[in-house]
Amino acid sequence: MNAAPSRSTVSPGPPDAGPRKPSMMRNALWLTVRRITVLAAATDAVFFLLFWAIGSPLLQWVNVASMAIYGLAWWLSRDRLHPASIVLIWIEVLSHAALGSLIIGWDSGFHYFLMMFIPAIAVSTRPRRAVPALAVLLLFYLGLERLCVLLGPLQPVSAFSLAVVHALNLSIVFAMFTAITIAYVGLVRSAERRLEQMATRDPLTRLSNRRHFWLQAEQRTAQGAASGPMALVLVDVDHFKQINDTHGHAVGDEVLTGIAERLREACRDHDVVARWGGEEFLLLLTRTDLDGGRRAAERIRQSIALQPLSASRPALRVTVSVGVTGSLASEPLGEGIARADRALYRSKQSGRNQVTAEPG
Ligand code: GH3
Ligand code: MG
Ligand code: MG
Repeated sequence: MNAAPSRSTVSPGPPDAGPRKPSMMRNALWLTVRRITVLAAATDAVFFLLFWAIGSPLLQWVNVASMAIYGLAWWLSRDRLHPASIVLIWIEVLSHAALGSLIIGWDSGFHYFLMMFIPAIAVSTRPRRAVPALAVLLLFYLGLERLCVLLGPLQPVSAFSLAVVHALNLSIVFAMFTAITIAYVGLVRSAERRLEQMATRDPLTRLSNRRHFWLQAEQRTAQGAASGPMALVLVDVDHFKQINDTHGHAVGDEVLTGIAERLREACRDHDVVARWGGEEFLLLLTRTDLDGGRRAAERIRQSIALQPLSASRPALRVTVSVGVTGSLASEPLGEGIARADRALYRSKQSGRNQVTAEPG
């Protein structure tokens, strides 16, 4: 705490800087590619047996080549997304769809596999590049259909065999679409959860950060009339710089984590606990008047002063100074925070390790 009534760490408005969005889409795409290669190679193995059963040696060889290509794509992308593996998958699906349709006919349904490019293209590139790529795919699709109609099947199989291959191709494309969609949605949801954590939590203590405190507090304040009085409690570690200087930054971090734990224990689910600055914490206690806030602050002060906070330095004595004030739903939150800050300043001025309350 800086010994001045208007301290720089207490701002009257919400902070606007947010975390950057990491490239999670790429990671999701990599895992999706890995799954596609395994699923596709397994499908090819089943089809190899089917083509042996229906007497289509040409397609058996196509499937052997396919398995080799998927194996190579899988191997290339073992550590991270490798561009060559995507190119290989492109080549395999395009040529397999084309060869299958040309060898036993359009009605075999091999062309359905081309549809799998639609989500793959949409998620892996920007719309500016996805639209022309999808247009090329559509042209390829239409061109292949025309060619198949013009040439007819190069190595026809019986109508029954064709119907079986068609039904299998359709079912597999359904299953692959379902599996890929479910896997992808799962990845996106977990990425969203991680992003939300990063945007709302302080990485060291896992408490709410300023931005999240502000949002939560404004929500609680908006419900103020229904949920009763509220108290703001500002906690600042005494002589924290000395702790860092004497015992090192790692012990300082341990102390902050320990304090965060005490604060969490002292609060209820509907309260808001945040790391407000370096060694400052701000609590919004709901359904608590000034007197209740003062009692809670005193309990917190005592629990920190009386029990060791650092596992690696159990003898280390840490105290906190606290400022408490009542918060009214009708007043801007910043005013309540500034009042708690003034009360905290008085605790520091009066010798630290104490609680000062300032009525709203
Ligand atoms: P006072 O009793 O007046 O509050 O004195 P103080 O030393 O606690 O306050 P001061 O503002 O002088 O120092 C705060 C220190 O907190 C300085 C800064 O290096 C340290 N600090 C801020 N964030 C972290 C952190 O994440 N980890 C550690 N270990 N130290 C931090
Ligand atoms: Mg301090
Ligand atoms: Mg401070």
